[in-house]
Amino acid sequence: MPWKCPVCGAENRDEDLTCKICGAYKPEATTKKVAQIPRETATAVLAVEVLESPVESLVGKRFEFRVNSPGVIVTVGRAVDNQIVVPDPAVSRRHMRLIATAGGVVVEDLGSSNGTYLVEGGGERLIKVESVGKQAVVRIGNTRLRVALV
Ligand SMILES: [Zn+2]
Repeated sequence: MPWKCPVCGAENRDEDLTCKICGAYKPEATTKKVAQIPRETATAVLAVEVLESPVESLVGKRFEFRVNSPGVIVTVGRAVDNQIVVPDPAVSRRHMRLIATAGGVVVEDLGSSNGTYLVEGGGERLIKVESVGKQAVVRIGNTRLRVALV
């Protein structure tokens, strides 16, 4: 039976043991293997730091989220019900989300008006859903965020 990812909600094929989008374990696979997961990889902290923003009160601010098994989702946008609220006029109400597991972070644009960009190698690249590993710099609107799994 296809299964729905407990972290990001993606549909996955029965034979897959981890989610194709965010890498979280298939729920029954987690139950079976939980004793084998070393303690240090079972928890991590997702840190999001505001490097640059027209919203002065946000600049330099750091948000931290505990990443327990199977993972955590952090939504980012202008609306007040996001975990990270960015009142930058160029940011959409529901702009993007970060899906973090102990293995890495996935950045997913939520259909924002101005897009989500990955800053890399001196340039920028528009992304939809991208696995960025343990560290990345992302731009939404005129706000740049450093995302790190620590
Ligand atoms: Zn997933």
